[in-house]
Amino acid sequence: MTDLRIVTLTGADAALGEKVVGQFGSGLRGELLRPGIAGYEEARLLWNGLIDKRPALIARCACVGDVIDSVNFARENDLLVAVRGGGHNVAGNAVANGGLVIDLSLMKGIRVDLRRSTVRAEGGATLGDLDREAQVFGLATPLGVVSETGIAGLTLGGGIGWLRRKHGLSSDNLVSVDIVTADGRFLTASETENEDLFWGIRGGGGNFGVVTSFEYRLYPVGPEVMFCFVLYPGDRAKEVLHFCDEYMAEAPDEVSPLGVLGRVPPVEELYGAVAR
Ligand SMILES: Cc1cc2nc3c(=O)[nH]c(=O)nc-3n(C[C@H](O)[C@H](O)[C@H](O)COP(=O)(O)OP(=O)(O)OC[C@H]3O[C@@H](n4cnc5c(N)ncnc54)[C@H](O)[C@@H]3O)c2cc1C
Repeated sequence: MTDLRIVTLTGADAALGEKVVGQFGSGLRGELLRPGIAGYEEARLLWNGLIDKRPALIARCACVGDVIDSVNFARENDLLVAVRGGGHNVAGNAVANGGLVIDLSLMKGIRVDLRRSTVRAEGGATLGDLDREAQVFGLATPLGVVSETGIAGLTLGGGIGWLRRKHGLSSDNLVSVDIVTADGRFLTASETENEDLFWGIRGGGGNFGVVTSFEYRLYPVGPEVMFCFVLYPGDRAKEVLHFCDEYMAEAPDEVSPLGVLGRVPPVEELYGAVAR
């Protein structure tokens, strides 16, 4: 049985010796960024532009070995750790002030297995990256609704998207994951291997380790799909949402609605912008 204890990596901002940091950085196949080094300012930015955190180190991992080394380095030096998948989390949890960011955004390898109808994608892939590869074969797995979102954070939180009514959540469609746990072990978790860990990561968030790759079931979808975007005035919101509720009770499972309440420019201006 897998040990599910979470080793909390806190402390941080520790004055690490140049030699120690240098050794860690030179061992990476990716790159190690620090304040003042080219690329650091861009690498600390997230989708939510309001987040302005300054990590001590950003390990831009290129492979599983880099992830294992980063986890071990953080644990041995008592560093606060943040893991970055697609960097889309609004709260900015993918970056930590004064800590080490284990950045997977370079790890986007994707392989479709047509024989098993599955796809394996690395932890830095976005929904758009995965769709790009699977759609070559007219296949898709249930993910979210915005292409720039990372598969990692989305799947670890459950993952709800366009295919949910027909095929369920992203986490329902996970076949297995490869994961580096806080003690630096590399494990595979599935229905038949490290089952308790597999249960935990399907909706439990990022606390169980760094997931380096996800394997999902694929389904025939498209290549042509329909999307209809309709705007109603705000004062009809109640009526429209009630209608949607009634309509969806009878609608086929292929149909998925998404209701958004928000402020938009005047309709004439909006349509003008779209027409241009
Ligand atoms: C515009 C927008 C649209 C969205 N649409 C949807 C949607 O349709 N459906 C839906 O379900 N959600 C949606 N979300 C929410 C989104 O799924 C979460 O914000 C998710 O955390 C984003 O994943 P990420 O990898 O991009 O995030 P990140 O910001 O990189 O990470 C989010 C969290 O997961 C952890 N984490 C990231 N990668 C790993 C990893 N490899 N291993 C372990 N932990 C990791 C991070 O440490 C952090 O705590 C949307 C968010 C936005 C901003």
